[in-house]
Amino acid sequence: MKGSCLCGAITFEAIDPVSGFSVCHCGQCRKWSGHLWSSTHVPDNSLKIEGEVRWFQSSKKARRGFCPVCGASLFWKHADDDHTSFARGCVDGPTGARLKRHIFTADKGDYYDIADGLPRS
Ligand SMILES: [Zn+2]
Ligand SMILES: [Zn+2]
Repeated sequence: MKGSCLCGAITFEAIDPVSGFSVCHCGQCRKWSGHLWSSTHVPDNSLKIEGEVRWFQSSKKARRGFCPVCGASLFWKHADDDHTSFARGCVDGPTGARLKRHIFTADKGDYYDIADGLPRS
């Protein structure tokens, strides 16, 4: 599975992708992406990134990787976890993936509803 940012300066390949992904409704993801950020969490050694990702320290333990050219919101990484999340929306071509759950729904914006019946946390 391959993906890229909007301008193509950064590409990534998930070697062992799982078929499900989550969408995060937290305030940070909302600000970062402009609405919601959907991602899949994979072991670091199964994600190959090419290009100069810029990282923003978004909290004490977490940082967010983006393209310094086009600004695409690409990666999320916790300091104590050997996994990285990559943006589901940046995967190229058919993904065969399905949205599996909603997270941080207590922080969701008041301008939309979640109505698909999927698990929430
Ligand atoms: Zn870019
Ligand atoms: Zn979030």
